[in-house]
Amino acid sequence: MSKKSKLIIFTGPSGVGKGTILEKFFDIAKKNNNKVVYSISSTTRQPRAGEINGKHYFFISKEEFEKKINENAFLEWALYNGNYYGTSKEFTDKCLNNDTSVILEIELQGALNVMKKYPDAPSIFIMPPSFEELEKRLRGRNTEDEETILKRLNTAKTEIENSNKFKYRIVNNGIDEAVEELYQIFIRETK
Ligand code: 5GP
Repeated sequence: MSKKSKLIIFTGPSGVGKGTILEKFFDIAKKNNNKVVYSISSTTRQPRAGEINGKHYFFISKEEFEKKINENAFLEWALYNGNYYGTSKEFTDKCLNNDTSVILEIELQGALNVMKKYPDAPSIFIMPPSFEELEKRLRGRNTEDEETILKRLNTAKTEIENSNKFKYRIVNNGIDEAVEELYQIFIRETK
């Protein structure tokens, strides 16, 4: 049976637990020697405490980002709460040519753009158990000021309203179950 490498769209509102789910997913994928990697995006947002350039993001200036847009360096990019975020086309092309799947952890606009360009790309939306729970988690994280939290909650509403456009939806009722569901989807889609 031949293995298919794919772009995998992974979206969900800020605070839903995407980072934790992916961390555990990659632990399992590594143990099983699955060929799948995380696409490190570029962003113009300021790094949060503990974030490392080249691991979590490539933190670049607005000017550098706009230069890359003009050079067509992004597979997709979007403006999210006043900052640019984008996926490197060179990186994803290289992986796919090397039989390696790539997980794109991206927001709604970028996700919809990738779905249009790559109808074969499976899309996964992570849902919070409830909106109230999402607000609690976002506030509990203590990494953003009130204005940013309100903006993110507002964006989250729109994202959840569009979640029916995704092929798969996973409700994050518990990390381990969510990770298992994600892994099963990955296996099914890359078989
Ligand atoms: P954060 O600032 O919390 O790291 O990310 C904000 C949002 O931007 C999240 O929903 C995240 O998934 C999304 N994001 C991160 N990288 C990219 C990217 O390259 N493209 C797009 N469209 N969204 C991204």
